[in-house]
Amino acid sequence: MRIAIVGCGVAGSYLLNRIPPGHEVEAFEMREKDKWWAVCAWGTSEPYISDLVSKVGLNFHNYVLFRGKKMIVDPGNGKGTFGINLNGLVTFDKTALFRDMKKGKNIHWGAHPKDINELKGFDMVIDATGFHRSLMPKLDRDAAIPCFEVEVEGKFPWDDFYIRPYPGLSGYFWYFPLGEGRGHIGAGDFRSQYRGEIESMVQKYGWKVVRRIGRPVRILPPEYIGPFYTEPKCTACGKTVHNTRILKGEARAGQAQAATNVGAGGQLATTFAGDGGAARSGATGAGMCACTSPRPDAPLVVGVGESVGSVYPLLGEGIIPSMECVNLFVDHMDDLGAYQSAVIRHFELYGKVYRFIKSKMDGNFSVLRQFPELWSIYRHMKTNERRYGLETHLGDILKVINV
Ligand SMILES: Cc1cc2nc3c(=O)[nH]c(=O)nc-3n(C[C@H](O)[C@H](O)[C@H](O)COP(=O)(O)OP(=O)(O)OC[C@H]3O[C@@H](n4cnc5c(N)ncnc54)[C@H](O)[C@@H]3O)c2cc1C
Repeated sequence: MRIAIVGCGVAGSYLLNRIPPGHEVEAFEMREKDKWWAVCAWGTSEPYISDLVSKVGLNFHNYVLFRGKKMIVDPGNGKGTFGINLNGLVTFDKTALFRDMKKGKNIHWGAHPKDINELKGFDMVIDATGFHRSLMPKLDRDAAIPCFEVEVEGKFPWDDFYIRPYPGLSGYFWYFPLGEGRGHIGAGDFRSQYRGEIESMVQKYGWKVVRRIGRPVRILPPEYIGPFYTEPKCTACGKTVHNTRILKGEARAGQAQAATNVGAGGQLATTFAGDGGAARSGATGAGMCACTSPRPDAPLVVGVGESVGSVYPLLGEGIIPSMECVNLFVDHMDDLGAYQSAVIRHFELYGKVYRFIKSKMDGNFSVLRQFPELWSIYRHMKTNERRYGLETHLGDILKVINV
């Protein structure tokens, strides 16, 4: 298959290395090669991501900048801070890691395809544009947290990771150390309560600003995101071509066949629906193309990564989830319906977390009513301490969410 990957951030760069051999792959990244920068606080769990990174032949430990011991948490209630023991949370050079994943790949830098028609000729286009979802249909509703961050150099009042949740759990302020007197100071907040706060801290502490970045992070989980893919129409019958037929190569075969069908007079011998093609169960139901040789009018488009909501809403953490989403895609590359179901299943908890946060932000929160969700979040984090790189205690969660 001819595959285009649009967006070379976490998901796109990882996918460039995870796509099985035998496909013709080209990538498109809107930034210029020397200006590509990983917008993020660069925090992740070293033991967990190491396994994902080793699948593409790289050693994650080489990219680690700072290993945390204790996360300092200020619940913002005037009662002082408390510590969460860390067992794997680190910052790493995200730009270097995902730049190395792009080495030797066929990438069109500074290329910004905005419309699927610019990518005709590909069988499948993968939308790995993160928050932008540039090639996927607009979401009926979305949920994203505006973020602002500065990379600074100087002296810091904290000697380890530091977070301060905003009232109502609408977001949090962070300091993520990068080692050697560098750090990411940032905040993500639904109500943008950080406006002015970060700039006045820069003044107060005399930090040198290396870079200022800002972009929202999607917290709408996969279960609320419509179809993860768009199937093309068949130019012969006008009906939708089922994704599995394209992924199994039937549509390409159709295009090749169509080319050989051009008769002596230059007329195209069109293949019509029902022209002897056996009905393929599921793929050719009502409204679906049943042509023996479908002719898609555009590539199949599918989202991976943040474009389909792979972000842990409680933390706005999307590096590991986007890489996991890529692996689910690769495991189900022959059936996008199965891919979508696998992603929704894998990130099922994110739905509970999202509803929990939303009720907090909407002011509808009740400990009693929301206790089952709270308990699920606690159980998830407790049984996945390696995944998050921190020790989980129910008491700490209650303090963070300020109940
Ligand atoms: C301020 C901030 C801090 C964060 N901190 C953390 C953190 O510490 N840890 C963590 O795990 N997660 C963090 N996240 C979330 C995490 O960065 C993202 O969820 C993750 O990078 C998503 O991966 P992705 O590949 O889907 O998208 P991205 O990594 O955003 O990549 C998208 C790529 O597509 C390109 N692009 C966009 N549109 C087009 C187009 N039309 N054509 C071509 N290219 C295009 C972009 O230039 C980019 O390279 C943070 C997010 C923000 C905003």
